[in-house]
Amino acid sequence: MLNHGHYIMGPEVKELEDALAKYVGVKHVVSCANGTDALQLALMALDIGEGDAIFCPTFTFFATAEVVAYANATPVFVDSDERTFNICVGSLEKQILKVIEEGKLVPKAIISVDLFGLPANYIELEALAEKYNLKLIEDAAQGFGGSINGKKAGSFGDIATTSFFPAKPLGCYGDGGAIFTNDDKLAELVRSYRVHGKGTDKYDNIRIGLNSRLDTIQAAILLEKLAEFPTELENRNIAAENYTKTLSEKYITPFIPEGYYSSWAQYTVVCEDRDNEMQGYAEQGIPTMVYYRTCMHMQTAFKDLGYKEGDFPVAEKLSKQVFSLPMHGYL
Ligand SMILES: *Cc1c(COP(=O)(O)O)cnc(C)c1O
Repeated sequence: MLNHGHYIMGPEVKELEDALAKYVGVKHVVSCANGTDALQLALMALDIGEGDAIFCPTFTFFATAEVVAYANATPVFVDSDERTFNICVGSLEKQILKVIEEGKLVPKAIISVDLFGLPANYIELEALAEKYNLKLIEDAAQGFGGSINGKKAGSFGDIATTSFFPAKPLGCYGDGGAIFTNDDKLAELVRSYRVHGKGTDKYDNIRIGLNSRLDTIQAAILLEKLAEFPTELENRNIAAENYTKTLSEKYITPFIPEGYYSSWAQYTVVCEDRDNEMQGYAEQGIPTMVYYRTCMHMQTAFKDLGYKEGDFPVAEKLSKQVFSLPMHGYL
């Protein structure tokens, strides 16, 4: 890399995009600067904007909903499934029907999140998206490496995104992200939006875009890490099994439905006495973390949307009771 000197979007970037496409099993992969930009680029390619309702889980990382508001669309929050922690399909349909009934916003897309590494329920989500003519965006920032019946995270819905932030299942040594799709038109749009809305080249600008490229050094690192990734995933799954064997009497341990494979971005348990338990681990030098203490509908930045405590009881309960134990491929 230092020999060829193409520090941004060098040959390793294309090599990585090809390797990721092969790994996930999709036609197009477009790398970009981070997982938040990946989501934003997906929304831009789908032409999402003012007046559009975008359904997303309230129990997620802020970026999932932030990009919706940034695109001037309206995030419509959805409760969680008690067992998988992912978007609840029943609550989702209720919210879709509510938006249709109110008639103020146009239901446009669903952003589902593969929370803590477990793919969301794409069998039902894809059916629901079709029923209501909605686009489906998979936020696989945490889900990369997971699968349902062998079909990999990143291959669900109309378009999917991931993040290579160091703490994600496949992390680089800085920021990075990618977009996955089988749709030629969406891929072409994302490639243009990624580099200042380029046409034939970056000095021919045919739309308003972003500067969201991947550094070559990150691509080179990711290529090496991708080769080790299947082994790391196996190790994460062994570690998770051991955790569950040891801890299932004490806490509600993660539920992995039949046919699902988790990339274990986090190993997260539910416990009523969370603070006390976390204190106990801290005393033994074991770090624990809470993802996420505040649901999206309770975030200050979204207070104008008018949600209140009690709107999403499952997600709220999870935000008060979950904590995550150490998890990585060398545990
Ligand atoms: C980390 C994360 C993002 C954002 O990724 P960045 O690379 O940090 O911008 C988006 N969605 C979810 C669910 C995430 O966990």
